[in-house]
Amino acid sequence: MKRVGVIGGGQLALMMGTAAKKLGVELIVQTPGRNDPAVGIASDTVFAAVNDAKATNELAAKCDVITFENEFVDLEALSQIASQGVCFRPRIEALSPLLDKYEQRCFLRDLDIPVPKFILPESLFAVSSVNQDIYANNRNDWELSFPSVLKARRHGYDGQGTFIIKSLTDLEKKLCLDSSLLLEEFIPFKKELSVIAARSTSGEISPFVVVETQQEQQVCQRVIAPADINSQTEKIIQDIAGTVLNTLQFVGIFAIELFLTNDDEVLVNEIAPRTHNSGHFSIDACFTSQFEQHLRAVCDLPLGNVAMNCPCAIMVNLLGYETQTSNYIDKRSTLAKIPGSYLHWYGKSESRPGRKLGHITVLLDDKNRDRAMTIARNIESVWYSQ
Ligand code: ADP
Repeated sequence: MKRVGVIGGGQLALMMGTAAKKLGVELIVQTPGRNDPAVGIASDTVFAAVNDAKATNELAAKCDVITFENEFVDLEALSQIASQGVCFRPRIEALSPLLDKYEQRCFLRDLDIPVPKFILPESLFAVSSVNQDIYANNRNDWELSFPSVLKARRHGYDGQGTFIIKSLTDLEKKLCLDSSLLLEEFIPFKKELSVIAARSTSGEISPFVVVETQQEQQVCQRVIAPADINSQTEKIIQDIAGTVLNTLQFVGIFAIELFLTNDDEVLVNEIAPRTHNSGHFSIDACFTSQFEQHLRAVCDLPLGNVAMNCPCAIMVNLLGYETQTSNYIDKRSTLAKIPGSYLHWYGKSESRPGRKLGHITVLLDDKNRDRAMTIARNIESVWYSQ
């Protein structure tokens, strides 16, 4: 497998570029924009939206295997393409229970993996027998309470499509605006965690260390690797990753985002069937990055060593804070001078509030969390200063 088609040409595909070079693999990308981050590293590009299946047929003709950096695809159309012998890794059947947040919750619940209690909001107001199916699927015996969390079932990212709902009036207002939603209990977590794990074609599973992710307004600001958790919690999380990867016969990298409660209970928030922001630390802080591991799995190469090469690392996202056309060169050069830092810039031509423009990882020689947080605050004060 030497030619890998990638559906999506954003920063995740861009960051596969260095790994592809190292492994001698060619990347061919399907992405709509001529300035999209991965266009520059791809050996060829099919310029089309990621859900354009006709374009994916064209992509298939140029490569040996197709993978994903983005899950906003038309799965039904891709199934058709797969049935004609095109190799997708992960396979289409492995994606199908994951792309819709409600179906993903049902899939995990049916595997006895703990998730927040959830319902389809329409079932709250269902009165007719037409809605029997919806009732039947809501086996969570959850009494609606507030705050609760309303989520778009598909196409949400970076917290867009996730709303904290404080009252019934709030809920009714939102339900008038959108129909395809999932409602779930609000989890007062003490930490948010994430694990990135790979599964190879032969079924070998390789999880990276569990990390702590820190969100503000539902958007990931920073990641600390490893998370400060006990070995039992680490094992529970890695077992969850193994169960899901094996059940799906998944090939490639995926990410599981989790909540850790005050009682040390672990609940899965979300699975992303691709490389993930919470795994960016691995580029500089692990012997094998998530991007290299993904390509290794997808290309049928032996998986690499995912151990960390330092005691601790902190990754800070550089998020847009204004609408502007700028490459922020001064701020980038200030940040690059931080000892032990590795700055990654995605080459996006326009900044918008909340848009991921780059990230910076700092490797530390001890596990002192206060020190890690001081470094993160310092980075953020440079980056967000006007
Ligand atoms: P997205 O898919 O857009 O990233 P998520 O479902 O991961 O959206 O939610 C984004 C963030 O919102 C989470 O990281 C968490 O901080 C918060 N959040 C989501 N669901 C819940 C919940 N049930 N309880 C508490 N906070 C939540």
